[in-house]
Amino acid sequence: MKRSYLIKPVLDDVYPVIDYGKGVYLFDMDGKKYLDAASGAVTANIGHGEPEIIEAMNQQARRVSFVYRSQFTSEAAESLAKKIADMTPGDLNWSFFVNSGSEATETAMKIAIQYWQEKGIQTKTKVLSRWVSYHGITLGALSMSGHTGRRARFVPLLEDFPVINPPYCYRCPYQLEAPSCQYACARELETAIQRIGADKIAAFIAEPVIGAAGGAIAPPEDYFKVIKQICDTHEILFIADEVMTGSGRTGEMLACTHWEITPDIVTLGKGMGAGYAPIAAAVASEKVMEPILAGTKQVMSGHTLSANPQSCAIALAVLEYIEKNKIMSQVESKGVYFKQQLEKMQSQFEFIGDIRGKGLMLGIEFVADRGTKKPYPRQALITQKMVALAKEKGLIVYPAGSGIDGVNGDSIMIAPPLTITEKEIDELIALLNETFTAFAQDFSC
Ligand code: PLP
Repeated sequence: MKRSYLIKPVLDDVYPVIDYGKGVYLFDMDGKKYLDAASGAVTANIGHGEPEIIEAMNQQARRVSFVYRSQFTSEAAESLAKKIADMTPGDLNWSFFVNSGSEATETAMKIAIQYWQEKGIQTKTKVLSRWVSYHGITLGALSMSGHTGRRARFVPLLEDFPVINPPYCYRCPYQLEAPSCQYACARELETAIQRIGADKIAAFIAEPVIGAAGGAIAPPEDYFKVIKQICDTHEILFIADEVMTGSGRTGEMLACTHWEITPDIVTLGKGMGAGYAPIAAAVASEKVMEPILAGTKQVMSGHTLSANPQSCAIALAVLEYIEKNKIMSQVESKGVYFKQQLEKMQSQFEFIGDIRGKGLMLGIEFVADRGTKKPYPRQALITQKMVALAKEKGLIVYPAGSGIDGVNGDSIMIAPPLTITEKEIDELIALLNETFTAFAQDFSC
């Protein structure tokens, strides 16, 4: 018989086989229970096995699972586009559905370039971005990503789009504090635009709260206002990559809303389908669509499974569930409670350097010396050890890689389903405490 293999992230690692999920918990085939404090990859926003979503899934499957977007549309796709327009600020009215966050950022990049082309400007093709960022794994998305680890092998194929420092206040390159810093890191964008030339730049892309590359790095208060102003002054579109932060993760449909800015294009993914279906979106404003509607009348992109009725019906059910159960209104208070508990732990564990984040997207950075903020040596693999220790104890936390090797430290993210109850939060905190206690005994140097 022919042998068969599933290519797993680390080929010689052993991965538990998950049998089923219920709420914030996953259960493996040996009966071991895991509290999913990472929502997988900040995705399972309403927990596992929700009957209402399963029902919506079944209902759509009984009607039709697939129609090709060049031939037909579906009630599910039309209704989802309407729901997103209703739930997002300003005139972000036009949704292009794809299957992953990487496709969403690629599509956003293409829409931005096409916008300028339709206006008769062919030279604006670059999409500037920041270091310590992650916008996806495909080559266009990776070109925008300031994640040195994930770029490394593919650099010859990538564009040099990351050009400015992130708003990483814990390790500010200027050694200043907001707001007296006057957002020096945001103002780097002005300098970069002058160096490269606004006539070559289609857009600037940023995650409202930096996720995978930095571990829930939230910006200081007026950071994005400065960024948006610079973009507007130089006629550069602003793309908010809300693949991780969107769909309620920080307590708003879009995290940008916290800082009162409306992007020209937004990307959604992950929590949009909450893990029940592979679905993501690039959502464009009327301003962006206007020249395209007056010109080509086509967004020059698309995939076979774009606007798949099955995925759209599921994402619609997820957004309706979030709305109906007023889930977003509980996110802020749950996040505040979490932060308080984490701060208590910080007084107990010297290796907790920074606690940060927004809503239920929280980050913990580990340091070898809290006073000097000295990171652990990279080869000590502290993040990996912490994640493995937690998993042993039945707790899933998200490893957040570093974007600037040797400069920023090891970190993890805590981002449980938004539906987590008070009792489950306390259980999560207890498991995290056990993990940190074990780490202090085994690895702390
Ligand atoms: N953008 C952001 C902000 C992300 O966090 C991610 C994934 O982590 C992506 C894009 C890529 O999404 P996907 O893994 O679904 O392709």
